[in-house]
Amino acid sequence: MTDRTLPPGLHRDTLAVRTALDKSQYGENSEALFLTSSFVQPDAETSARRFAGTEEGYTYTRTSNPTVTSFERRLAALEGTESAIAASSGMGAILMMCMGLLKAGDHVVCSRSVFGSTLNLIGRDFGKFGVETTFVSQTDIAEWKSAMRPNTKLLFAETPTNPLTDVCDIRALADLAHSGNALLVVDNCFCSPALQRPTEFGADLVIHSGTKYLDGQGRVLAGAICGPNKYMDIFATVVRTAGMALSPFNAWVVLKGLETLGIRMQAHCAGALALAQWLETQPGVARVYYPGLASHPQHELAMRQQSGQGGAVVSFDVPGHTPEESRANAFHVIDSTRVLSVTANLGDTKTTITHPATTSHGRLSEAQRQAAGIGQGLIRIAVGLDHIDDIRTDLLRGLDTMGSKA
Ligand SMILES: *Cc1c(COP(=O)(O)O)cnc(C)c1O
Repeated sequence: MTDRTLPPGLHRDTLAVRTALDKSQYGENSEALFLTSSFVQPDAETSARRFAGTEEGYTYTRTSNPTVTSFERRLAALEGTESAIAASSGMGAILMMCMGLLKAGDHVVCSRSVFGSTLNLIGRDFGKFGVETTFVSQTDIAEWKSAMRPNTKLLFAETPTNPLTDVCDIRALADLAHSGNALLVVDNCFCSPALQRPTEFGADLVIHSGTKYLDGQGRVLAGAICGPNKYMDIFATVVRTAGMALSPFNAWVVLKGLETLGIRMQAHCAGALALAQWLETQPGVARVYYPGLASHPQHELAMRQQSGQGGAVVSFDVPGHTPEESRANAFHVIDSTRVLSVTANLGDTKTTITHPATTSHGRLSEAQRQAAGIGQGLIRIAVGLDHIDDIRTDLLRGLDTMGSKA
């Protein structure tokens, strides 16, 4: 009703607060939440056209919903892609991508350092349906190249990785994928489009867990896939039939979360860099993993790909002569905190602390964990918006008294 079409050329910050469907007849300034499962049709003829897909119009929320559409458009505007299709969670988005693009006999090349559920979904569950996957090093392009086969359909990467923050070269992987007529899909959860837009480096599709930084306040599950229009019909059909649709309520929460994504990411990154630099000076810390540090093996690549920012996840090793001693020291640091949240989630305003070897990577064998570089002394921090002095003080409680309990 009160629609004023946005002029072209607006900055990302403006798109983050403005991109949405037209306002309703009431002229609400904050986007409306359409919490409804179905939509009343004006007459049977119109209804028939909408169900046949020859006329635009909402029918049923598993197919589409105005609040979900607003979220999709806003996210696509931030990622710089033509469109986005929302899903019920990040894993729902990866399932939608796999269902839409893969069939029996296809082959996938995937980084071995991707999110654990992604490893299981692609490697184990789609293996059951005749899709074969080769897992390769996050950073060694030669290994990706030698894994390619004539039937390789897609390359899947996540950068930086959890918890060691290894960064892969999106441009190099995109070139490799395209040389073999495959697609490159990048899980952009850790950076969000505020820092990294994989399609600018040649990626074909971008996956999001909206549960993390897009919501940014630890409230809801959400997911999406972003990319060019030519793939979106495929994914929209998968959601409509398979039902991993995003709830309008969750879409509304994440839509509003996107408005502050840019300033939140700047604050997260500033806190994480300060924390990483400080950790490097601590006698109780053996090694720090953070792309924003010059000591990070892919520091320069990360700075190029991630708008000059290291992201919000910092990991570090505490020492120990044996794995048992390292684990005791790590548990001591975690259990000595009084402010940080002991939880494996990330992308929250509240800073979280976790022990990857016994949580996110707890199901791996000790040998697999060693190969992945995830030791018993490793601690991961996802820096929220707590004051940096309070985070440091909270960590010092344990770092200063380590060994006394070990
Ligand atoms: C959390 C996460 C996912 C899965 O997202 P959900 O919303 O929890 O389903 C996928 N990839 C990465 C990198 C994640 O951190």
